[in-house]
Amino acid sequence: MTEGFLEDAAHYPGGHAAGVVFPRTASDVADALAGAKSVLPIGAQSSLTGGATPMGELILATGKMTDIADRSVETVTAGAGVTIAALQSHLAQRGAWFPPAPTFTGACVGGIVATNAAGAATFKYGSTRDWVEGIEVVLADGTVLDLVRGDRVAVDGRFTLQTRRGAIVVPVPGYTMPDVAKRSAGYHTASNLDLVDLFIGSEGTLGVITRVTFNVLTPVPKTALALVPCTSEPQAIDLVRSLREASRATWRTADPSGIDLAAIENMDRRSIEILREDGVDERHHVTIPADTAVALIVQIELSQEMNAETAYTQIAGALEDSAAETTLVRFCRLIARYDLLERTELSAPGDRRRAEQIIAIREAVPAGVNQRVALAKHRIDGRIAKTAADMIVPFDRFGEMMDAYRRGFESRGLDYAIWGHISDGNVHPNVLPRSLADVERGTQAILEFGRAAARLGGCPLAEHGVGRNPVKQTLLRQLYGDAGIEAMRKVKRALDPDWKLAPGVIFEP
Ligand SMILES: Cc1cc2nc3c(=O)[nH]c(=O)nc-3n(C[C@H](O)[C@H](O)[C@H](O)COP(=O)(O)OP(=O)(O)OC[C@H]3O[C@@H](n4cnc5c(N)ncnc54)[C@H](O)[C@@H]3O)c2cc1C
Repeated sequence: MTEGFLEDAAHYPGGHAAGVVFPRTASDVADALAGAKSVLPIGAQSSLTGGATPMGELILATGKMTDIADRSVETVTAGAGVTIAALQSHLAQRGAWFPPAPTFTGACVGGIVATNAAGAATFKYGSTRDWVEGIEVVLADGTVLDLVRGDRVAVDGRFTLQTRRGAIVVPVPGYTMPDVAKRSAGYHTASNLDLVDLFIGSEGTLGVITRVTFNVLTPVPKTALALVPCTSEPQAIDLVRSLREASRATWRTADPSGIDLAAIENMDRRSIEILREDGVDERHHVTIPADTAVALIVQIELSQEMNAETAYTQIAGALEDSAAETTLVRFCRLIARYDLLERTELSAPGDRRRAEQIIAIREAVPAGVNQRVALAKHRIDGRIAKTAADMIVPFDRFGEMMDAYRRGFESRGLDYAIWGHISDGNVHPNVLPRSLADVERGTQAILEFGRAAARLGGCPLAEHGVGRNPVKQTLLRQLYGDAGIEAMRKVKRALDPDWKLAPGVIFEP
């Protein structure tokens, strides 16, 4: 029965479980908790950290909690097991959408809240936390809390909660979190911490999330995608800086014809080589010039009235003196300043096929890397594993951080690729291991990157969480120190004194 639930997307080894249950309600969850020594809540098991790999617990699979109800035009309540794809298609029927969706839309509502997942569009829309209005959560002792943002805020650095065990006091951790757009690095804290925020990002260790109320956006924006092949990394970083500044100016002034971007993704030279080696560019009819050092994929938001024909006319005439200033015209002119317009490909709103082809090449990069890691594991050494980081720094330190990634890998003779969400200063440096020694050297490099990211005001754990991954757990300890981990353990002990929920996730029991 547990077969099929023993591994998550991190392919963390050794998964085993006491059993699996499929609750439908919070009360079912409370019953399961009452009869179990330890429990691991799971969603789609798309975790990249081993956080959804059972290590002897009873698996609490949320796949049957699939109710969705609209609360208002701007809010929706969804069961923990609703996938992001199902949520988006429900919302699409009434012209709404959930902006901070992670790239993998098979992930579930409970999972994305438990990891504070973020997507490409964090630049404009923030992470999951920013869109959670309320949660229903079951504590380890079976207490069901129905929390609405703003209702329960810490007083004097603690919460006092009435539970089935009586009144309990939960201390608020005292560390300072890095000030960046994405963080999935242990328990959230703030001087006036909202109890909802304590559970968001707690990776199943503090409570089982059974239902979530999200704020959503309406209408769905019209978007165009641009594939911009930059000839050097400094050029790409400078262009992203200009695009970020232009977008921020547009939001500040509400200029309807200003540049308005939701996301900029990046793929470095090695990532592009991987696409070529795998024939992905040809398969999707996408041409990336041979001298491309960094390919950017830019998601531009346009007015609701924009259609493909008008968009292509504006793009074609963008550099003419007579062209009216529109979002697209301004975008093209900015790209032209970098001498990149001739090389740039734009897919207009409504051109879904082209947009899908461009997105497919970005998604093929991690897939290509994972395939190579799996092959090396199979052919060279069974102990070879994915060796990757997920770090964020404030954008004005991004160039320095890229230098640190490259120096760290190259000084160790490693083959590597870097891609990610450049508009947030968040990328995924990945080793392409050719031996077990490469994995060991790559791990050392990643721990070094974690220290560099923290020094630059960033966070070494941006969107995937900590899970059971020992390197990520070390990065968390490097970030907050032993005292920080102890502060988290105090929260855990207060809410789950028997260490029943997801033991070993985020930190060791
Ligand atoms: C191809 C691919 C692309 C990805 N892209 C992104 C991305 O763009 N952004 C991003 O942030 N992540 C990304 N991820 C990682 C992953 O999708 C996210 O971490 C996602 O939020 C996990 O959701 P899930 O439902 O699969 O949760 P699971 O993997 O099942 O669980 C993740 C963690 O949450 C806990 N959990 C799950 N459900 C509950 C619940 N109901 N209550 C309490 N705890 C719970 C689990 O115990 C575990 O610790 C990607 C993964 C893959 C495979």
